[in-house]
Amino acid sequence: VIRCRAAVAWAPSKLSVEEVEVAPPKAGELVASSICRTDEYLLQGSFPNAEFPVIPGHEGAGIVESVGEGVTSMKSGDNVMPLSIPQCGECSFCRNPESNYCQKSHISEPQNVLPDKTTRFSCKGKQIHHFLWVSTFAEYTVVPEYTVAKIDAAAPLDKVCLLGCGFSTGYGAAINTAKVKPGSTCAVFGLGGVGLSVVMGCKAAGASRIIGVDINKDKFAKAKELGATDCINPRDFQKPIQEVLTEMTGHGVDYSFEAIGHTDTMIAALASCNMSTGVCVMVGDLDSGSEISINPTLLLTGRTWKGTVLGGSWKPRECIPKLVSGYLEKKFNSDLLITHTLPFAKVNEGFELLRAGK
Ligand code: NAD
Ligand code: ZN
Repeated sequence: VIRCRAAVAWAPSKLSVEEVEVAPPKAGELVASSICRTDEYLLQGSFPNAEFPVIPGHEGAGIVESVGEGVTSMKSGDNVMPLSIPQCGECSFCRNPESNYCQKSHISEPQNVLPDKTTRFSCKGKQIHHFLWVSTFAEYTVVPEYTVAKIDAAAPLDKVCLLGCGFSTGYGAAINTAKVKPGSTCAVFGLGGVGLSVVMGCKAAGASRIIGVDINKDKFAKAKELGATDCINPRDFQKPIQEVLTEMTGHGVDYSFEAIGHTDTMIAALASCNMSTGVCVMVGDLDSGSEISINPTLLLTGRTWKGTVLGGSWKPRECIPKLVSGYLEKKFNSDLLITHTLPFAKVNEGFELLRAGK
């Protein structure tokens, strides 16, 4: 049993840094230290199927401390990235080359405890739940073998951790889910870490016009640096933003992306792509229980409305290591997305910066 620090959410809203006990991996599991990221939905109590108390975090990178019996794909000392979407390799979606949504993923089968239905975390005599089987807000965590990818030993863990969720999600939404074509027009709603990664993906795919949409104009400079050709703030216009985008582009953009997580902006993004061949990709997560109602004519004329998780068709265990190699070969610069680096004890400060749009 390892004692280490972890950020525990005893209930929704706040994290407290506690000393926890982490039980050793059992058969088919391994242990990796990790780096934290934002899990605001979980903290607000609006993440579907979650259970408290919990150690959040799902975007990390670490080093294997030890492996459980029968683990063969990695060993102690390997650099790894825990994955928020597993790749069991056996289910029908894992066997389908077009899908990355393993049937062992959280929405199908809650991942609040490990596959053997027990937890490896305890604190003050209480069992603590896992989050998405990864719980990266801990110095040590235990994850199933098929929920971790082995990555290049040269990768800087404090930088490539972004590839564990946000960057890969946004970049892959453009390249794999929308399949953005050279010379096309794109609109990206929300210019946070995920939306900026969509901008990078659209640019890499050769889009000729990329319009960033955000209510926080402080995001525009970075968006332009990463490839946005125009940036607009819906609050600067009297009319709905979908009408503004339609006028700017003639008939609407070829591809629109929603990377905010609001029902109204999802509908606006859908209405912003052209009525015939337009493709709208839903990237933002909605509060559990949300519902959207739309005028079906929006789809009748040919528009396509899609969703995406962790980069669309990228199989996590195979493709995340390739993305890490791409990072090392400087095919893209995800370091530009890093705005602050904080010590673990300041995990709550990180969330305050996120809430403040910083
Ligand atoms: P973020 O908070 O950093 O960015 C959101 C941006 O949206 C901010 O810049 C904010 O100013 C802007 N915004 C808020 N309301 C707006 C409005 N009404 N109109 C225009 N802009 C508005 O968040 P993030 O980390 O980039 O994540 C974005 C979304 O993607 C979240 O919903 C997150 O849960 C989701 N997400 C989905 C996946 C997936 O696999 N599908 C993976 C990671 C994150
Ligand atoms: Zn699977």
